[in-house]
Amino acid sequence: QAKVSGRNHFEVYHSESHDQDQQGFFLENLLRKAVIHKEFELHYQPQIHIETKQIYGVEALLRWKRPDIGFVSPGQFIPIAEESGMIIPISEWVLLQACEDLKRLSLTYPHLKMSVNISAIHFQQADFVKKLEQMIEQSNVNPRFLELELTESTIMPRAEKSIEQLVKLKQLGLKIAVDDFGTGFSSLSYLRRFPIDILKIDQSFIKSLSSSYDDASIVTAIIKMGQNLRLSIIAEGVETEKQFKFLRQQGCDYAQGYYISKPLPFAELQEFLKEWTAIIGGNTDG
Ligand code: C2E
Ligand code: MG
Ligand code: MG
Ligand code: MG
Repeated sequence: QAKVSGRNHFEVYHSESHDQDQQGFFLENLLRKAVIHKEFELHYQPQIHIETKQIYGVEALLRWKRPDIGFVSPGQFIPIAEESGMIIPISEWVLLQACEDLKRLSLTYPHLKMSVNISAIHFQQADFVKKLEQMIEQSNVNPRFLELELTESTIMPRAEKSIEQLVKLKQLGLKIAVDDFGTGFSSLSYLRRFPIDILKIDQSFIKSLSSSYDDASIVTAIIKMGQNLRLSIIAEGVETEKQFKFLRQQGCDYAQGYYISKPLPFAELQEFLKEWTAIIGGNTDG
């Protein structure tokens, strides 16, 4: 298993080459082969409604299963995929797979939402919306249950173009979530210009909830302001009961994190949902 500290995705491959450009090129070729040989997999992390504990949805998280060394995490290969343009075929595979899995899950869980992470490069493609529309048709999912996660750094630059693109996605019926919210320094008043539905509080603020008074205030402020703007709020990286209780007290809508479940392969997700709904009850809309 390739475990690399920090953000240096070149480290895994240093035995293959010492030149960074060559390493990038090497990895790019591996990614190209990975697409052809279908070495990607989606894992799904459950999200729950904090008040009722009912399932809200799942987030699709990409995994690259290399035949030689096993799972490589997205933080290690997505930057290279973005630089090389390989992110487009990879992302198209992710979207279609997520739509197909949503379709299967919706037979048992008709209100379950599917969240998919979208790269800036993919979002900015001129034909992004058109292709997405085709995928929705092809997989026959209800777009109302599909959410796209975009970061502030994806939508903030080229704001006018982003708004245009987002409006088209909203017209298709999709929901838009701002991922890693709070790390991009954008004001909520500025954000109001964008047709978004959900804020995902970045996990760094959740992590230090009990140790940092500042981070606790940021979380509280995001929840309050989000409520005033009638946005749903989801906290990610919730690991402890203490964090969960704090978020409930503050009126946060949804939670996602190891406290509830790790990201799971599809079959394990189905088991999880079955057991969870047996205890908590079926999920309702919202
Ligand atoms: P993200 O979208 O912010 O996803 C949350 C990350 O936090 C995931 O890491 C998830 O496994 C991890 N996580 C969830 N709960 C906890 C927790 O309680 N504690 C801790 N410590 N971590 C938790 P992962 O799967 O390694 O993904 C990392 C990033 O890679 C994602 O951040 C997202 O930006 C990107 N990514 C993942 N899948 C895709 C994809 O299909 N397309 C694109 N473009 N990016 C993706
Ligand atoms: Mg995400
Ligand atoms: Mg995030
Ligand atoms: Mg992130």
